[in-house]
Amino acid sequence: MDKTVAFFGLGHMGAPMSFNLVKAGFRVKGFDPVADLLDHACSQGVERCVSPQEAVKDAEFVISMLPHDTAVESLYIDEERLLDEIEKTSLIIECSTISATSSKRLISAANDKGLQAIEAPVSGGVTGAAAGTLSFMCGGDDSSVKRARVILQHMGTNIFYAGTAGAGQTAKICNNMLLAVHMIGTAEALQLGVDNGLDPKVLTEIISKSSGSNWSLQNYNPYPGVMENVPASKHYAGGFMVKLMSKDLGLAQQAANASRSYTPLGSLARNLYGLHSLAGNEELDFSSIQQLFQESC
Ligand code: NAD
Repeated sequence: MDKTVAFFGLGHMGAPMSFNLVKAGFRVKGFDPVADLLDHACSQGVERCVSPQEAVKDAEFVISMLPHDTAVESLYIDEERLLDEIEKTSLIIECSTISATSSKRLISAANDKGLQAIEAPVSGGVTGAAAGTLSFMCGGDDSSVKRARVILQHMGTNIFYAGTAGAGQTAKICNNMLLAVHMIGTAEALQLGVDNGLDPKVLTEIISKSSGSNWSLQNYNPYPGVMENVPASKHYAGGFMVKLMSKDLGLAQQAANASRSYTPLGSLARNLYGLHSLAGNEELDFSSIQQLFQESC
């Protein structure tokens, strides 16, 4: 059981995260319902499991990287009822971005069954997942978070303790709401420059050294051809899908409603990403919001 990990969700993020654990010497038992993704993971040293139940057998850590609340609750509590199968000495590390409500439900249901569980949503994107430089925003019992560091350190460089269950997810949606806002602002500014005769690479260089600089501009530039190896230069393939950003912006609005907070830019960002998604772009990377401004010309 020592150093055995069950890993659920081998998509854009889960695959490279699990590969880093393989490289660090863990035995990684993987499960994903999409056969091609499971095949790819197995080609990188992940052990194939045909059911979630098989994956958790003898696993000291159980990690999940799933799309949304329903997938997480279905796996652990409702359909698959994995909480009944997981070894009592295991630690569950739930890394998906889900609502604080859903995360609290999971952690409390796990604790009721005598299991340790934390939430650890991430930031850093697919590049950070591949490089092992993710930031983890952990929430839950302090001692369980300390225990998780042994394994999180092989997938990320920043391991934050946000507070009790739900706090990590709240930190994550605040971050992603801000990310959406500066991605949209960056796309808008770059298009304005291009429409007025500027080269987007030159404009990026100027703003990068000026007061408008931000992460989207410098690390994940949305204008095609400005930066190599980002989704914008690969027809917006890979990366962080529009539908997942839309989900996160919906979670931010839910939280804002519950706390009676005003988030006008977050609300606008949610609507813009929602419309972009409805226009058939839900599987593209979220930096494809650039197209909204190009198509309006
Ligand atoms: P993805 O859709 O590429 O991967 C999710 C995977 O989960 C899919 O392969 C799917 O088949 C699998 N899955 C669904 N139900 C399952 C189950 N019951 N058991 C096992 N696997 C199951 O999504 P992603 O981009 O990897 O994102 C995963 C999570 O990470 C999301 O919550 C997202 O919001 C968050 N996130 C993504 C990024 C990013 O840049 N992509 C960055 C930070 C956080």
